[in-house]
Amino acid sequence: MAELKYDRGGRLLFTEAMRKEYTILIPQMAPYHFEYFVQAFNTEGYQAELLKTTDYSLIHEGMKYAHNDICIPAMLVIGQFIDAIKKRKHDQDKVALIITQTGGGCRASNYINLLRKALKKAKLEFVPIISLNAGGLEKNPGFKVSPRLLHKLHDAMIIGDLVMTLVHQTRPYEAYAGHVDQLKVKIDKDLETYFNHKTLFSWKRSKKKMLEILKAFQKVKTIDQVKPKVGIVGEIYVKYSPLGNNHLEETLEKEGVEVVVPPLYDFFLYSFDSRAHDIKRYGGRKAERWLLKAIVWYVEIRREKIRKAIKKHGFEAAISYKKLKSLVHKVIDVGTHTGEGWLLTAEMIDLIHHGAPNIVCTQPFGCLPNHIAGKGMFKKLKSLHPESNIVAIDYDTSASRINQLNRINLMVSNAFRKLKEGK
Ligand code: SF4
Repeated sequence: MAELKYDRGGRLLFTEAMRKEYTILIPQMAPYHFEYFVQAFNTEGYQAELLKTTDYSLIHEGMKYAHNDICIPAMLVIGQFIDAIKKRKHDQDKVALIITQTGGGCRASNYINLLRKALKKAKLEFVPIISLNAGGLEKNPGFKVSPRLLHKLHDAMIIGDLVMTLVHQTRPYEAYAGHVDQLKVKIDKDLETYFNHKTLFSWKRSKKKMLEILKAFQKVKTIDQVKPKVGIVGEIYVKYSPLGNNHLEETLEKEGVEVVVPPLYDFFLYSFDSRAHDIKRYGGRKAERWLLKAIVWYVEIRREKIRKAIKKHGFEAAISYKKLKSLVHKVIDVGTHTGEGWLLTAEMIDLIHHGAPNIVCTQPFGCLPNHIAGKGMFKKLKSLHPESNIVAIDYDTSASRINQLNRINLMVSNAFRKLKEGK
């Protein structure tokens, strides 16, 4: 084990020596993106490993070490981490954990402290935790996000969103069962070497790769059939993670619908934009505000090119962040940005506008912000869009799968009925 070093406040640090010897465990949050994040880290001198366990019983491991009034995503992430460390009987002293810290008002900013408490309780306090954040909240001598790593993470996010969109738009219509899944495996294999480069900005490279991916999906032979579209929105973790949402995407596709999931990048732009909004309204460093604004602007320029390419190849692209934000005008204030805040409401409106009025809103137990911006907005949305067919699915420690399925099935049968009636 590397020598343990602490900062002045007694926080265990991830040191330079650990960088060489330790494996960094990453919780699985978004299966279409996190595989690529791991590749990005591993080509920048880290040894990262993605945790792929998806059994909901991991929650019991979380419950053993965290207070039971903690929101479900926190409980699942803690459970998944502790389970993974316990299984590594021989090298528990050679692992570190990494977790995002949003810096916002909800518990996502405090997961890291809950995790430290849980590790202490599980007698694993020698495991260092790295905070991945944009606000310089916690620093570690052995972990630095270099400009090149940042650019690779940006690339991974855009490619993840692209692959997710294309899979969702082709898999329900594939002429040969399993074709799209096989294509996805092939693309992932190709991407294993893609991130291994030393250039700071690799725009040409990334454009070439994305065009290759688009062309590959364009060649998928599909059947001519109309299926109802069902959107998935909600708290960030339960929206994307199969562990958090009981494999919702798979369940819906088995019911015969086309799934629509908003891009993950929107959440990150929303987080930067929210911080800039707070600085403007409540004060703070102007330079930071301009930097955040510049990041959103830069990412949107890159994403606009991809959106154009997606449309050119015959697929549907998501709308821009600016347009998304404008949708909530007179519905919810853009200052509502704890948890998913106004973004969640905007995503529902966007889905309704774009032919997916059937929506599953995933709601974790213990999550006040998303009950307000999610369930709390149903009445308003229903009055503005009577054609909407939205169902809230609760995810809690004792979530009954049958209960969730019944509610999903009811929403799906309404979607099929409306499609039949031509609504
Ligand atoms: S948004 Fe809700 S579920 Fe997510 S971390 Fe915050 S309180 Fe927990």
